[in-house]
Amino acid sequence: MTPEEILPDALLERIRSRAAGYDRDNTFFHEDLQDLVEAGYLKLFVPADDGGQGLGLAAAAQCQRRLATAAPATALAVNMHLVWTGVAQVLSARGDASLDFVLKEAAAGEVFAFGNSEAGNDSVLFDSRTVAERRPGGGYAFTGTKIFTSLSPAWTRLGIFGKDPAARGGDGELVHGFITRATPGYRILDDWDTLGMRASQSGTTVLEGAEVPHHRVFRKLPVGPNADPLIFAIFACFETLLAAVYTGLGERALILGVEAAKRRTSFKNGGRSYAQDPDIRWKVAEAAMAMDNLYPQLASVAADVDNLAGHGPQWFPKLVGLKVNATETARRVVDLAIRVSGGSSYFRGSELERLYRDVLAGMFHPSDDESAHNTVANAWLGPLDD
Ligand SMILES: Cc1cc2nc3c(=O)[nH]c(=O)nc-3n(C[C@H](O)[C@H](O)[C@H](O)COP(=O)(O)OP(=O)(O)OC[C@H]3O[C@@H](n4cnc5c(N)ncnc54)[C@H](O)[C@@H]3O)c2cc1C
Repeated sequence: MTPEEILPDALLERIRSRAAGYDRDNTFFHEDLQDLVEAGYLKLFVPADDGGQGLGLAAAAQCQRRLATAAPATALAVNMHLVWTGVAQVLSARGDASLDFVLKEAAAGEVFAFGNSEAGNDSVLFDSRTVAERRPGGGYAFTGTKIFTSLSPAWTRLGIFGKDPAARGGDGELVHGFITRATPGYRILDDWDTLGMRASQSGTTVLEGAEVPHHRVFRKLPVGPNADPLIFAIFACFETLLAAVYTGLGERALILGVEAAKRRTSFKNGGRSYAQDPDIRWKVAEAAMAMDNLYPQLASVAADVDNLAGHGPQWFPKLVGLKVNATETARRVVDLAIRVSGGSSYFRGSELERLYRDVLAGMFHPSDDESAHNTVANAWLGPLDD
C-alpha cells in the first residue's frame, strides 16, 4: 500500500482538525491514536503474513512525512513506536532475530515507547545514569530517571536501558530490555508542559526498581561506542524517521506560506495578491528549494538502509547529516512561511504559530548539532588528539 492508501486524505484531515485542540489543551492525541491503530498504522513494519503492512524504512518514512503534514506532535510520538518496530525489522533483515518478538507483539496490538533519554546524559546510548541491578535468574531491576518519554499515557511496552556497574570486571555493562505497563516499580510524572509538540505528552518516567525478566533483556553491551548491530539499527531508524517528521512539518509550512501569499492582497499595489510581489516570491522559492534538497536525501538514506548498503564508517555521518538537514531545513522553511504570511501567523491558534513552536523541538533530539558535527568531523578527519 502507498502512504496515500494507508493515510487517506479524509483520515489525514480528521487528524489535522484535532491538532490545534490537543496543543491548546496540552492533551494526548487519544483519538488520533485510535484512528491510526484502526488504519493499521502501528503495524507498518510488521510482516504482511502477521497482518501488518510489511513496509521497509523508506516507505515508513514517507508515511511519517505525510502524517506530520497533518499533526507533527502525533507523528513525533508515534515515531517512538515505529523506531522500535523498525529496529526489529532492520535487525531481522540482517539475520538478527533478537527483536522479532517486538514485531510479534506489535502485530498483537502492543504500543512501544522509547525510554532511553536521561537527564544529564550526553553520552546518550553509550553510557547510562540508570542503574541496572542483576537479579537471581538473570533479570535486572532498573532505577533511574528517563526524560521525554513520548506516548506516556498510551504505551504498553517501554524500552529502557541502564548500567550494571559491577559487570565486566567493574567496567560496567549497558543492559537493554522492555518493561510492560503492568510492571511494578515505575512512575510517570505529569510534567509535560512545553513550548511545542504538546500532544506527544512526553512526560518523565521514574524507574524505582522496575524489573525486566531474563527473557526480555535483549542486549548487554560494553560502555562506550561500539559497533553492535543494535546501535546501528537504533540510529538508522531514529534519525531517518525523525527526519521524516520534520520533513513533513516543513512541507506543510511551505503549503501554508503559498496559500497565504495567494490570499493576502497589497493595498499599495491596487489589491494585487502578494503572490505577485517579487520579495514574497523570492521567499517562497527559497523555501521550496530548501525542501527540494531534503526530499531526495530522506528517500535515498532510507532506501540505503533497506537495501543493506555498505557505507561503512560513513553510515553515521549520513544518518546524522539527514537528521540535522531535516530539522534545520524545517526551521528555515517555517520561518520563511511566517514571513510570507504576515501578522496573522503571530496569533495563538494559527497553524503556522503552532508549527513554529513544534519545529524547535528538532534541535534537542539526538544527534544534536554539536554531536552530529563531531560525528561527521571524526569520520573525515579522525578523532581529536588526547
Ligand atoms: C518533543 C520531544 C520528544 C521526545 N521524545 C523522546 C522519547 O520518546 N524517548 C526518548 O528517549 N527521548 C525523547 N526525547 C528526548 C531527546 O531526544 C533529548 O534527550 C532531550 O531533548 C534532552 O536533550 P538535552 O540533553 O539537550 O537536555 P538537557 O537540557 O541537557 O537535559 C534535560 C533535563 O535534564 C536536566 N539535567 C541536565 N543535566 C542534568 C544533570 N547533570 N543532573 C540532573 N539533571 C540534569 C535538565 O535540567 C533538564 O530538565 C524527546 C525530545 C523532545 C524535544
